Amino acid sequence: MLFPTHLLVAAILGRLSTLSIPWLVVGAAVPDLVDKSLGLVGIVDLYHTVGHSVLLLVVAVPIALYHSTGRAAAVGWGSHLAFDTVHMVINGRPADVLSLGWPVTTPPDPLALPPIPFLFHYIGSPSFFLEIALWLVAAVIVLSDIRPDLGMRRRVGGDE
Ligand SMILES: [Zn+2]
Repeated sequence: MLFPTHLLVAAILGRLSTLSIPWLVVGAAVPDLVDKSLGLVGIVDLYHTVGHSVLLLVVAVPIALYHSTGRAAAVGWGSHLAFDTVHMVINGRPADVLSLGWPVTTPPDPLALPPIPFLFHYIGSPSFFLEIALWLVAAVIVLSDIRPDLGMRRRVGGDE
């Protein structure tokens, strides 16, 4: 999934929950910021490594349990991994999900494309159209905030 869409999903999660939107977005940004950087400078050969590894749960869970800020960041990070998994499966590359176990497991035939070549590979894929749908959902949410008569406004408190 494309980086901006991960941030969008985190913002939507924040809109639909009581979690901090900025910290959800920070958590959702971490996997790609870390792993794309490591890949681009040549420290690793793949672009889904430490930041995309579920082994980080040993760090994320204590942070989530410690404070609501950490919980938001951990949920944002988890949303990134979840939506990358959806993208890999619906794009017909389920074996790529093995990257979630890095460094214990790695995909047998990873794409290993840097960000810009990946973008051109990705445009037009089934997951790309899912992302368009997510952006449309976000547009509806924003419109409902601007036009409360559309009926999607979050209710705060009891009766209105
Ligand atoms: Zn990712």
